Amino acid sequence: MIQIYIPLNFLGVIYREIKQNLVDLDKMFTLMDRPQEVQDRPDATALTDLATPTVRFENVRFAYEAERPILHGLSFEIPAGKTVAVVGPSGAGKSTLSRLLYRFYDVQEGRITIAGQDIRQVTQASLRRAIGIVPQDTVLFNDSIAFNIAYGRTDASQEEIEQAARAAHIHNFIAAQPQGYATTVGERGLKLSGGEKQRVAIARTLLKDPPILIFDEATSALDSANERAIQAELRAAAQGKTTLVIAHRLSTVVDAHEILVLDAGQIVERGNHQQLLALNGRYASMWALQQQST
Ligand code: ADP
Ligand code: MG
Repeated sequence: MIQIYIPLNFLGVIYREIKQNLVDLDKMFTLMDRPQEVQDRPDATALTDLATPTVRFENVRFAYEAERPILHGLSFEIPAGKTVAVVGPSGAGKSTLSRLLYRFYDVQEGRITIAGQDIRQVTQASLRRAIGIVPQDTVLFNDSIAFNIAYGRTDASQEEIEQAARAAHIHNFIAAQPQGYATTVGERGLKLSGGEKQRVAIARTLLKDPPILIFDEATSALDSANERAIQAELRAAAQGKTTLVIAHRLSTVVDAHEILVLDAGQIVERGNHQQLLALNGRYASMWALQQQST
């Protein structure tokens, strides 16, 4: 009796979990208006060894359309618990790196590994549980603001949701709404500005607290006072996490373990801040330009 009951119950839990993830992913893909091109392999397994994973891009080539290659054989490593930053002109392929790591698309050559596991061999559900991403453009669900923040950690308490919202400097804004955290947002609810949406995405990621973080110009829509304050929160959140930072403001990458300068899908310079300044090339001139404008 017991022998039968336990496995069935166990399967029930797994089934609900899988189903929940598929529903959420469907919802997300619809909202992002992106075809679900990537499928789990029949023998896919869950990602393991996630305490502080190393992320590697190995000779990665990628094109959205075959006739127009975007990434031309990129290799780099984000060592366990470190931050690697990517800078470069718009259109260089920076956001493409984050989409490939999140596996919205598969690489055409080379591979991406997390803790030594090729991300094509693992389930998307386990991959996406391990990664928190603050994208360039955040799409919110037509649901309460509490749901939007807790998405990715549905067991969070109201207290934890508010704590994340405070860290992302969006709590006061939410508290000022007549319905507070129950306020519906998204296309059919309260329309949020780019900066407000970005702060919701930051709160969501802080609450999810995954081992791998991706910040894709995560504070680009914020005014400079808010940006400075939230940058400090993001830096704290990234402590001990394996982090990919795509930066539009170079002041946010000074402490990175390694900075990659990407141009037209190639790494044209790499090193830490001091090394790149000493090189007196692309990074150094970008740095000089930004110093003038602030
Ligand atoms: P960055 O983030 O550095 O500004 P992206 O990685 O977003 O650059 O884009 C790199 C290149 O890929 C750009 O030329 C862009 O137009 C192209 N691109 C991005 N997304 C798509 C897509 N879904 N289909 C086709 N081309 C795309
Ligand atoms: Mg981008």
